[in-house]
Amino acid sequence: MEQMNRKIHSGKILEVYIGNRPVSIDTFPLLGELSIPDIWLLTGTYRDGLHESPAIATRFAKAFFDKSKKISNFFSPERSFISYLTKQKSIELTLAHYIAAGYEHQMHLPRMGWSTMFEEMMREKILKIYNSLGVDIGLPPDLLIMIIKNPEFYLPYFKKYFTQTLDYKVTGAAN
Ligand SMILES: Cc1cc2nc3c(=O)[nH]c(=O)nc-3n(C[C@H](O)[C@H](O)[C@H](O)COP(=O)(O)OP(=O)(O)OC[C@H]3O[C@@H](n4cnc5c(N)ncnc54)[C@H](O)[C@@H]3O)c2cc1C
Repeated sequence: MEQMNRKIHSGKILEVYIGNRPVSIDTFPLLGELSIPDIWLLTGTYRDGLHESPAIATRFAKAFFDKSKKISNFFSPERSFISYLTKQKSIELTLAHYIAAGYEHQMHLPRMGWSTMFEEMMREKILKIYNSLGVDIGLPPDLLIMIIKNPEFYLPYFKKYFTQTLDYKVTGAAN
């Protein structure tokens, strides 16, 4: 209503569609054939799948139908975790995203230093998540925000991933 049309309140629901934002743990796509022959994944496109689909379809259809056409692929489904940020940069970026989303959703803080207080509170929260997960690599902001919203569910899940995944390695510019 705020951003598109204030008359939406009187609209009627004609049809309901359900969609996904399929996302991997490092938030990068999962594209290509698995080590189990003939099983392919073309997913993990999160918020960009519609726009990426022409490029992905063209590229991978060629490799799918003609096995001799090997393509170099950074996002193979069985790749290791891609970390593209330092831990510090990830904390700053997560804070910026979280606070921006607050203002986008009508956050009004008292103008007596509360914005700084809020930022410090959120920084503590993010650091606490990093400490619980026991990782020193930069995690993507979307993953951290997901955990902030539902720590009871996501913290044990990701902790298990980062501490127990036997072949867990990191690739990426930050490391
Ligand atoms: C609200 C919303 C807005 C978005 N906006 C954008 C945008 O502006 N730009 C952009 O680029 N991307 C956007 N996306 C992201 C984009 O839609 C996804 O990245 C993309 O659709 C993912 O493609 P996919 O093929 O992996 O999954 P999907 O498109 O979800 O396809 C999975 C299909 O599998 C079917 N399926 C599930 N289970 C079974 C089963 N057991 N048997 C048979 N079929 C099954 C489902 O019905 C579905 O058709 C948006 C997503 C959402 C939810």
